[in-house]
Amino acid sequence: MSDCIFCKIIAGEIPSKKLYEDDDVLAFWDISPQAPVHFLVVPKKHIAGPAEVTETDDKLIGKLIRIGAQLAAENNTGDAFRVIFNNGAKAGQEVFHIHLHILGGKDKPWPI
Ligand code: AMP
Ligand code: ZN
Repeated sequence: MSDCIFCKIIAGEIPSKKLYEDDDVLAFWDISPQAPVHFLVVPKKHIAGPAEVTETDDKLIGKLIRIGAQLAAENNTGDAFRVIFNNGAKAGQEVFHIHLHILGGKDKPWPI
């Protein structure tokens, strides 16, 4: 989507601090971290949010969680990290390209 900031990051048109990339998925550090470890995992396919996920995307969304957990382990969160999807502006969603937040690096990785 041409006006989507995360599509622009995926296309390399906006810089990001990348953690991981493959054909389906990109992970990058959140620009405004809410915990010592805070990164985002996004599918390269534009999906506006959790409510727009269809059965076709089941495997892709599972992969986001698997990659997020692997990257959390590689970035010293131990077994204490939060996995968060926001859906809708009233729930705090600001970017309408689905993304998984991983927050960790302390015993209770809050807020969000
Ligand atoms: P949400 O509120 O769930 O839509 O989360 C959007 C997240 O994207 C926020 O935590 C922002 O800090 C983060 N964010 C926005 N723009 C960028 C960017 N250019 N690079 C990295 N993270 C970003
Ligand atoms: Zn997008």
